[in-house]
Amino acid sequence: MRICYVLSVRLTKFTDLALRAVMRLAVATDGEPMTTRQVAEAVDVPYAHMAKAVSRLQHLGVLEARRGRGGGLGLTVLGRRASVGWLVRELEGEEEVVACEGDTPCPLRGDCRLRRALREAQNAFYASLDRLTVADLVASTRRPVPVGLSIRPPG
Ligand code: SF4
Repeated sequence: MRICYVLSVRLTKFTDLALRAVMRLAVATDGEPMTTRQVAEAVDVPYAHMAKAVSRLQHLGVLEARRGRGGGLGLTVLGRRASVGWLVRELEGEEEVVACEGDTPCPLRGDCRLRRALREAQNAFYASLDRLTVADLVASTRRPVPVGLSIRPPG
């Protein structure tokens, strides 16, 4: 019996830190310009990693860099309204959670029930995230700023 290379439902580090950046910027007030470095520090990731994530998010139209005084990174309207499912799909890509093809394709791949079940599970995972927008992730009646996303006190 072939061993399946099934991954757990786990986001890549890149997706995670991109989502951290989006959430942090979603709670930024209009008068609070944030550089990539400030966002990186606020969500505790290395600057170089955050720069890559910011670049990808800009490419997707989720973030924009506003120039001039008071400028900085900000969420676009799309970024605020985007479904989390769409964003995670874009960041993760459309790969299956199991390597049925690859360099040595699985001989069972033609009509494998496990493969179908895993596809359904993956679709259900994304469908649950489709119900949330980025704005929903930071909306709270009790805490306006998610724990861990507030700016660190100086010092
Ligand atoms: S086709 Fe089925 S048995 Fe083969 S690798 Fe994919 S899920 Fe596993």
